[in-house]
Amino acid sequence: MLPGVLLWGCPRKEVEIVNANTPPMQVPIARTQLSEDEIQCVLAPLRSGWLVQGPKVREFEEKWSAFTGAQHSIAVTSCTTALHLSLAALGFGPGDEAIVPAFTWIATANVVEHLGGKVVFCDIDLDTFNLDVAQLESKITSRTKAILPVHLFGLAADMAAINYLAKKHHLWIVEDAACGFGARYKGQHVGTFGDAGCFSFHPRKSITTGEGGMITTQSSELAEKLRRLRDHGAAMSDLQRHLGARPYLLADHPDAGYNQRMTDIQAALGSAQMERAAEIVTERQRLAAVYDRAFAGLSWLRTPVCPEGYEHGYQSYPCLFQPEAATPESIPRINEARNKWMDDLLQAGVSTRPATHAVHMLTYYREKYSLKPVDFPNAWAANDCSISLPLFHGMTAAEQEHVIEQVLVRKA
Ligand SMILES: *Cc1c(COP(=O)(O)O)cnc(C)c1O
Repeated sequence: MLPGVLLWGCPRKEVEIVNANTPPMQVPIARTQLSEDEIQCVLAPLRSGWLVQGPKVREFEEKWSAFTGAQHSIAVTSCTTALHLSLAALGFGPGDEAIVPAFTWIATANVVEHLGGKVVFCDIDLDTFNLDVAQLESKITSRTKAILPVHLFGLAADMAAINYLAKKHHLWIVEDAACGFGARYKGQHVGTFGDAGCFSFHPRKSITTGEGGMITTQSSELAEKLRRLRDHGAAMSDLQRHLGARPYLLADHPDAGYNQRMTDIQAALGSAQMERAAEIVTERQRLAAVYDRAFAGLSWLRTPVCPEGYEHGYQSYPCLFQPEAATPESIPRINEARNKWMDDLLQAGVSTRPATHAVHMLTYYREKYSLKPVDFPNAWAANDCSISLPLFHGMTAAEQEHVIEQVLVRKA
């Protein structure tokens, strides 16, 4: 008997095996890969005694701006706080409406609620899993203040169309680029199209600091406000004060801000990974291309699309399980078959997940806004019929071959 080892996302069942040297392959949905050098980098702030936001945060921010082409980068505690802070800094408040895709992580909608706003969902395009821009304008009312496009799974939303509508109706754009590392449209990195872009460093994302987030903006005025708001509204950061002429005097506070500062311990880890940022994206794209080729002939599995002009960052590898076309009648049937398939894959050592969730189907939003699955049919289909296969940099060829084999044994 093997000891019960818990691989992240993939509980290994106790199994009888013939040869103890060849345990059954278990491929998790994602696995954090840090080099020994990157792990060592975390020790420097601990030894220096400067643990909170300081020189390492500044270094991480500079590397982030260089990689994304953003004018300004502001590190915070998560993508959720990045979204919250960005909307707050722009002046979004009670009674204001924000348009949010119905298929995204719940945090995109939650921050609107946190600020007393109203969430207005818009359905997605089932091909890209991103906002259906053809429906966007019909969601705009006199109270609409912001659009929160999501670059889901590493594919940029249609920013040309979204920017056009935002300009026409004088709306703010806060990009949810949580999964957007390496995602570009016509060579331009996401997070630089709207007023602000928000990234996540949760371990499921391509660069990780445990928990953490980054805001990018092209506006120096907004950047200054964001830097103040993340730090209790202080006119000057602790580091600036300590390096200044009179470090013993406290700063003034022009705003009632928040504490959303990243620590230098986290930033040291993030900054170290930025040294191989391009390599991480290329490796993920290479793994995705191997899957694309292997599954090209399957009618019942639609692999991720990447339209002309787009570069996909492949935060994950979201597919659509489609043994038949998704309609309100067929979705429950497809969902049942997908769940059974996910179970079979897990038994065969392949961990999978639904790509993400339809937020309008989650209890809080369903009840508060009296919503039905069919109100956003594509988000419903994505919720019930999507499946993400394991993809992470550091995935071995043997692991990927195992996933491919296990997918291909399933007959249409
Ligand atoms: C991961 C994710 C978030 C939340 O990021 P945190 O850093 O965990 O707060 C928000 N939106 C999307 C689309 C995500 O995938």
